[in-house]
Amino acid sequence: MVQGVGSNYYNPYYDTPPQQQQRRQEDNQTNPLLTIGGLLLASKGIDILSNHASKALIRGKEYTTSDNVAKVTKNMLKNNNLGVDVFFVNPENIERVSNQARISVKDLKEVAAGKNAFYADEIKVAVAPSAKPSLIQHELGHAINAKNPILRLLQNSRNYVAAIPTALIALNFLLKKTNKSNDETFIEKNAGVLGFLAYAPTIAEEGLASLRGIRAAQKTLAGKGVKFGALKKNYFFAWLTYLLAGVGLGIASKISVKTGIPTGMGI
Ligand SMILES: [Zn+2]
Repeated sequence: MVQGVGSNYYNPYYDTPPQQQQRRQEDNQTNPLLTIGGLLLASKGIDILSNHASKALIRGKEYTTSDNVAKVTKNMLKNNNLGVDVFFVNPENIERVSNQARISVKDLKEVAAGKNAFYADEIKVAVAPSAKPSLIQHELGHAINAKNPILRLLQNSRNYVAAIPTALIALNFLLKKTNKSNDETFIEKNAGVLGFLAYAPTIAEEGLASLRGIRAAQKTLAGKGVKFGALKKNYFFAWLTYLLAGVGLGIASKISVKTGIPTGMGI
């Protein structure tokens, strides 16, 4: 007999005594509030990280001059036959851009302030802040993606993600109706992963839009001594906010299925 190893010693991994096993199972079943508390905390943590990523993006430096970005933009438009109108917005030209682009001043405010950029496929318009012109390359990456039917499907999937928690609750309700036992349903077990997977197409499409923007810059500005590190860094932080949003949707889905109350991201 090994010294110090008495009858109370059990290896925690494969030799758990039966009474303890039972207690652990009960713990799992009787602590839903603790679990939800943990999930809410995790959700808050994701929010904080996402805010940091957004701030890092806003603080990020431009990788090159606006003239060089204009060259990249021209090439992206021409080489992909995009037919997209591009606008660089600032507080001085916001009214004029609003009229020309047929986008409300309200929707352009964040762009003018350097905090957003977007591509509107319905009207084929891409906007970026004058202070951060390089964001336009990512937006034109979206415009290129939109020409491919499958990528366009990925792009549009984001319009449905807000409905995922409610959809999972409804599906779970149906599963429970047909499930006679008290076991966890497939949805209850996997709500987090399912929520994240629903967001995965958006994460992928965002990443691809950035890669297209980076590749276009590398091609257009090759041999001109331009370094692309700052561009990649900015685009990484932008992508990180999407990755975190996916994790956030996973957590929100889990909370929704556990409580039966639809919960959105960023609670
Ligand atoms: Zn994007």
